[in-house]
Amino acid sequence: MSSSVALRLPSIDGLLRHPACAPLAERYGRDSLLTGLRQLLDELRPDVLSGQLAAVEIGPEVLAGRVGERLAQQQRSQVRRVFNLTGTVLHTNLGRALLPEEAIEAVQTAARYPLNLEFDLASGKRGDRDDLIEGLIRELTGAEAVTVVNNNAAAVLLTLNSLGARKEGIISRGELIEIGGAFRIPDIMARAGVRLHEVGTTNRTHARDYQAAIGPRSGLIMRVHASNYSIEGFTARVATAELAELAHAHGLPLLEDLGSGSLLDLTRWGLPAEPTVRQALLDGADIVTFSGDKLLGGPQAGLIVGRKELIAKIKKNPLKRALRVDKLTLAALEAVLGLYRDPDRLAERLPSLRLLTRPQADIHAQALRLQPLLADVLGEVWQVSAVEALGMIGSGSQPVARLPSAALCCRPQVSKRWRGRYLLNLEAALRGLPIPVLGRIGDDALWLDLRQLDAEPAWLAQLPQLQVDP
Ligand SMILES: *Cc1c(COP(=O)(O)O)cnc(C)c1O
Repeated sequence: MSSSVALRLPSIDGLLRHPACAPLAERYGRDSLLTGLRQLLDELRPDVLSGQLAAVEIGPEVLAGRVGERLAQQQRSQVRRVFNLTGTVLHTNLGRALLPEEAIEAVQTAARYPLNLEFDLASGKRGDRDDLIEGLIRELTGAEAVTVVNNNAAAVLLTLNSLGARKEGIISRGELIEIGGAFRIPDIMARAGVRLHEVGTTNRTHARDYQAAIGPRSGLIMRVHASNYSIEGFTARVATAELAELAHAHGLPLLEDLGSGSLLDLTRWGLPAEPTVRQALLDGADIVTFSGDKLLGGPQAGLIVGRKELIAKIKKNPLKRALRVDKLTLAALEAVLGLYRDPDRLAERLPSLRLLTRPQADIHAQALRLQPLLADVLGEVWQVSAVEALGMIGSGSQPVARLPSAALCCRPQVSKRWRGRYLLNLEAALRGLPIPVLGRIGDDALWLDLRQLDAEPAWLAQLPQLQVDP
């Protein structure tokens, strides 16, 4: 032992009785405090025994302070709000669409009270949860029926399994895509029990390719929206209407996985054209699947819409029970769909559409306003400028289309060999703020795309806390 007087850690009981610990017991509960103190003392014991700690470092106030910090840390929710300044609006890793107030209220009601989830108030008999949105879906898409599952991946899996198990699914080689997060069409087909029958080539598939593939083992024809990549140049693809005709001539259903699947023509808001669910059905697709939290702007869900007898078959599949949505999702979905009844006000009321259609001039003005404030906080080493930038819709919608936006571009004024480190440190500092700020690094700079900076006061309020390591 290095010191002549051996140090001793305070006893747990003594600490629990100490006035410094009283507010912690009050706030976090005695059990949590006890656990926290035990852990801390266990960690400190070896250092105390080897004489590496001074007496002041194990005083009751100091220990109470340390335990308090830990308990606060533990109590903080793991689910954290962030600022998405990445430039990607529907960012899968950041939760995709933000819900409109109407949906938030509906979720609260559904969370707080019993509801008619599977109860028909008109007849007093048992109901079906899909019926809660069927009227709206019929009105908004022209579909005969709907069933809702956990997400669009589940929608595709369930549809394939219900309509094509042990049969062949015919699909163009140009549509055998991977969406990310391990969702690959060939793998989903295999898991659904559907034998993949690929036709055509990556860039060109003709009606005669589908025709030649149809035989006694055929179960369905599938079409997948290429979502996150584009084939350009020497290409050919069969129109949905023609493919539907071919499928129906052979008694096969045509499935169309639209991915994002918009309910309205987005070009009316100056956005790139996306196929609409209504058009796919009009063209003759028997079943159309799409996500709830992509362009639709709602909660995570997968919508399966289309012909009544096929939807009935899908609903009978036992997998439906495993993939169904909960009451909170349905409540939010109904509220979001309701907003689509008034397209004129949709861009005001639906946050994802409002953000997607925010004029560049607006965003640029915001960048000019914030530029001196951020420059001031970051200091001389950083050159901060308000610049034009290109964002994207995200979630596989229009991968090549860019959204003209504006950003704060932060460049470290240091030699090339240090730039990477400076950028990573700034990125980490922004991420470490009470409401983490997420941007994107590229071209020797850190970019904060402001399209989605709605809560400007909250963003500004935490700026003074930004501490960037050199
Ligand atoms: C995004 C997407 C999916 C998966 O949808 P999730 O809702 O994320 O499960 C499936 N197919 C296509 C074409 C997509 O774009």
